[in-house]
Amino acid sequence: MSRQVLILLGAPGAGKGTQAVRLAESLSLPHVSTGDLFRENLSKGTPLGDKAKGYMDAGDLVPDELVIDMLFDRVGREDCAGGYLLDGFPRTVAQAEALGARLDAQDEVQVIDIEVPDSAIVERITGRLSCGGCGAVFHRSFNPPATEGTCDRCGGGLSQRADDSAEVVEKRLAAYHEQTAPVAGWYRERVGICAVDGTQSPDEVFGACRACAQEVAS
Ligand code: ADP
Ligand code: ADP
Ligand code: ZN
Repeated sequence: MSRQVLILLGAPGAGKGTQAVRLAESLSLPHVSTGDLFRENLSKGTPLGDKAKGYMDAGDLVPDELVIDMLFDRVGREDCAGGYLLDGFPRTVAQAEALGARLDAQDEVQVIDIEVPDSAIVERITGRLSCGGCGAVFHRSFNPPATEGTCDRCGGGLSQRADDSAEVVEKRLAAYHEQTAPVAGWYRERVGICAVDGTQSPDEVFGACRACAQEVAS
């Protein structure tokens, strides 16, 4: 059976999570976020969470073996049998190669790169508010919740991620440019990518992403 594997690339804060939630719903695909999977492991205090914590707090990427095992375990589950949406994976060329080796020739890989300049990233990340309950994201100024501190979607509490500080953002951006930006080129040569201007409003970015997903599928 052919699976739709939709990959969202982009810098930290580019809007991958925001768009992933909407795209997953619109395309009926499970939303698989490696950042969310690591945070789940952290909050449960699993051995994997313990191993990942130091890297995440420092703004470094978690080593490939740990990420790849965790991701394969997740996409091996029943709900991903018809396809899935990847948010935050692959972040290195080695991760892209490992995923490629796992997919079948008939799988339909679609790659969207959400482009936002570094100058806009710091403000986005330092103003981000994340829901501990459902993973929804808001922004203090750009997308404030209706009631301060409360998630519009599930009523859960909102908080700032420990790694969403101005200091750690610089490290995460450096890791993005060194290790993740080459992944876009890797896919451009192999399957093609759809570049979307991520500085537009969330609705406009969604429209552009949705058009990409459809275009590649048809
Ligand atoms: P953002 O939404 O800001 O891009 P994520 O929630 O995707 O951040 O990731 C948070 C942290 O989790 C990263 O800074 C990194 O330490 C780790 N992480 C998530 N996905 C990966 C991955 N595919 N490879 C390596 N590390 C990852
Ligand atoms: P990523 O998953 O790529 O790290 P997020 O989707 O979590 O990015 O978005 C980062 C922050 O920027 C959040 O606070 C979010 O509300 C905000 N944001 C997302 N998309 C936009 C947009 N198009 N314009 C302005 N702010 C945005
Ligand atoms: Zn919520």
